[in-house]
Amino acid sequence: RQRVFSGIQPSGNLHIGNYVGAIKNWVAIQERYENYFCIVDLHALTVPQDPKELRRKIREVAAIYLASGLDPQRCVIFRQSHVSAHAELTWLLNCIARFGELSRMTQFKDKARKEGTESASVGLFDYPVLMASDILLYNAHLVPVGDDQRQHLELTRTLARRFNNLYGETFVVPEAMILKTGARVMALDAPNEKMSKSSPRPASYVAILDDPDTVRRKIRRAVTDSGTEIVAREDKPAITNLLDIYAAITGKTVPELEEQYRGRGYGEFKKDLAEVVVEALAPIRERALELLENPGELEELLEAGAERARKAAAPALHAARAKMGLG
Ligand code: ATP
Ligand code: MG
Repeated sequence: RQRVFSGIQPSGNLHIGNYVGAIKNWVAIQERYENYFCIVDLHALTVPQDPKELRRKIREVAAIYLASGLDPQRCVIFRQSHVSAHAELTWLLNCIARFGELSRMTQFKDKARKEGTESASVGLFDYPVLMASDILLYNAHLVPVGDDQRQHLELTRTLARRFNNLYGETFVVPEAMILKTGARVMALDAPNEKMSKSSPRPASYVAILDDPDTVRRKIRRAVTDSGTEIVAREDKPAITNLLDIYAAITGKTVPELEEQYRGRGYGEFKKDLAEVVVEALAPIRERALELLENPGELEELLEAGAERARKAAAPALHAARAKMGLG
């Protein structure tokens, strides 16, 4: 069976972009693969986090994974920081990764710009190498992610190939699995910007845990384009984004939706979209809130996952150490 690895940072409120770009796809494919779904808390530390809030967010991500339908019988669900092999392999790969290639990563440039590059953490710069370690440790074949992670996946492949060339065949060279719809959901208030959970503007995203009225309000207030037509077109980035969300959630195609809303107004379209999103999120939200009432159970599940992940990660780490002349 092929292995799948993916993860989400507990760095804020998970949103519909994380849902349609990642989690929904994980749930759909989980029966076909051996799955590792991680809560990448070491990655979250690359930008400032409040420790108490971080602890809460980690459980929240676990609850959302389960509530969305990931089955712990089929998926190893765990915290990155509880499997020390991730940090250890990162150091080994740091020593073959190049300053130049990391300097070209657009996520680093975007995130570093916000704080001023001088004060960006070295961890933020090194983020893609930690991500490569996550994936290569499990010899994952497939990595289901959103479109924004394409460049990091390419770097992961480069590092795997480089290691294999330098030290002999060690790592599987993984493939990105990126969907056609929902892989790049844009901010509701700025359709030229990716929807991000680290955004300081709650109006820019619909959170998976937003209550139905908040979801309705946020979608009603989402910016639209000039004109009245409901079509996906380059000069209509806002409506294109809303159509993409609608399509990703319902499984309808964008042309079908354009047809369905021909001659109808933005207001009616947004109202329907809000109901579609509420209907998809409400059961997940309710189940997640229930699970969060039992933090002890979530902790147990995560610890059992970490135990399995440690076992699965050990061979690749040992192989890498030995081939580099350590251990
Ligand atoms: P942050 O702002 O902290 O980076 P994020 O919203 O980008 O948060 P991540 O934890 O970095 O979320 O990414 C988790 C997964 O969600 C990745 O697979 C990523 O590609 C996907 N993803 C993130 N944002 C979007 C989006 N706007 N549309 C589709 N997929 C997304
Ligand atoms: Mg991100």
